[in-house]
Amino acid sequence: MSQQSDQFKRLVAHCKEYGFIYQSSEVYDGLAAVYDYGPYGAELKNNIKRYWWRAMVDMHENIVGIDAAIFMHPKTWKASGHVDAFNDPLIDNKDSKRRYRADVLIEDHIAKIEGKINKEVTKAKKRFDNFDEKMFRETNGRVKGYQEKINAITERLATAMTNNDMEELKAIIVDLDIADPDTGSRNWTDVRQFNLMFSTQLGNIAGTEGKLYLRPETAQGIFVNFLNVQKSTRQKIPFGIAQIGKAFRNEIVARQFIFRMREFEQMEMQFFVRPGEEMKWYEYWKEVRMKWHKALGTPDEKLRYHDHEALAHYANAALDIEFEFPFGFKELEGIHSRTDFDLASHSELSGKKMQYFDPELNENYVPYVIETSIGVDRMFLATMSQALVNEVVPGSDDPNNKRDVLKIPPALAPVKCAILPLKRNEEAIVNKAKDIFNQLKLSFHCQYDDTGSIGKLYRRQDAIGTPFCITVDFESLEDNMVTIRDRDTLKQERVSIEKVAEIVGKKVDMKHILA
Ligand code: ATP
Repeated sequence: MSQQSDQFKRLVAHCKEYGFIYQSSEVYDGLAAVYDYGPYGAELKNNIKRYWWRAMVDMHENIVGIDAAIFMHPKTWKASGHVDAFNDPLIDNKDSKRRYRADVLIEDHIAKIEGKINKEVTKAKKRFDNFDEKMFRETNGRVKGYQEKINAITERLATAMTNNDMEELKAIIVDLDIADPDTGSRNWTDVRQFNLMFSTQLGNIAGTEGKLYLRPETAQGIFVNFLNVQKSTRQKIPFGIAQIGKAFRNEIVARQFIFRMREFEQMEMQFFVRPGEEMKWYEYWKEVRMKWHKALGTPDEKLRYHDHEALAHYANAALDIEFEFPFGFKELEGIHSRTDFDLASHSELSGKKMQYFDPELNENYVPYVIETSIGVDRMFLATMSQALVNEVVPGSDDPNNKRDVLKIPPALAPVKCAILPLKRNEEAIVNKAKDIFNQLKLSFHCQYDDTGSIGKLYRRQDAIGTPFCITVDFESLEDNMVTIRDRDTLKQERVSIEKVAEIVGKKVDMKHILA
């Protein structure tokens, strides 16, 4: 098994064992690509959402938040283009009966060639001192050959996707000799379009008139409320509307745990600007959103921008912020310049003018929009995959003395502080520990635990990412001091009980990363 897939399997198992994520309806053998968040998962997810909301809404005077309904008038999805164009190119393998996204098969093929380039680079790095990677990539014959192949395929794929050319997509798959990744069969059907929206039926109207969709993105709830929000909050352009909520997509291939789900959550912000100023704001949000990720301590080499070659029907510029997941660099967040497409379409189909009167210019216009859109679940996966470490216990000389530790940024950690009595049978110690817990729980999410030996309790808190453990012992009864243990360094310090809330509070406060 490759190191990457091994790491990913360990992550999925860890999520289940420690109460972060369970397969939905597991007792019935599960529902594919749908997941439930367990007690620690729910806490982490809430903290991620809070970090986003604090950074986007609380930190910007000109951004307000809303919470729109999942069901919307069916015309919404006609205007947005989802009924006609929210499709993925689908291909079936006739032998294995497995279904794939044609574009993803081709992208995975490109990733394989990229893997070959990386291998060459790694080999050369070992061979030469003062290795100049840029120069090597530009001059090495084999690498250049691979890169030319990638460029040619990328261009062909982009053209086919832009033109909705299903025959060409099939031709690319055949020309590249792409096989079913699971079985190796090359017996493919033609490529056809598959609409990703789930639909359901209103109770009191029969037939297509009563057909409703589960929203495939939260953005449209923002667009149809543009006038309501602008008028009721008196915001002046440029301003933004933010929202966190569920979205649903009938994904064709959904195999990478919570990376691609059929029910997921998005954190989206639509920023309304003067026409002609959209590229300035596109650049602005590109920078600001990258900073948001890096403020969590994510190293530079784990994040990158990826400009879109093929643009969606509504966009005049688009890029992804990609994160290096255990299965490679993939989209974590999208930043799109959506022009005036959505507001203009809703104006046309609803007959209500969605315009803004700009007092400085003394004119009416349909604002342009920059969107930042990130999946809560993908951010969760990125956070977990970066945090989970299997390491030799700090300070130990024994290389086999290992621990699993989740090095989650303290501000996002599900439990901030665990209060552990050294002896669970000593009433005085237990009572003291419970008193401390009852005090600390007023400040942040804490946990009292006396279900095992202190060593076991520490390991368990490491595995759920608790930044601080407080141990109450016999001496605490005399001197009102406890031992505070740091998750990452394992340093232990004796501190007065009165100081604990302040010490922990300082470290787990979101203020530091927001600043
Ligand atoms: P992809 O190319 O991976 O299908 P997308 O370009 O369709 O994603 P967007 O429509 O831009 O995604 O959605 C914005 C964000 O919502 C994505 O960056 C991602 O974080 C999240 N997202 C989209 N689809 C899913 C899904 N099926 N499961 C989990 N998160 C998703």
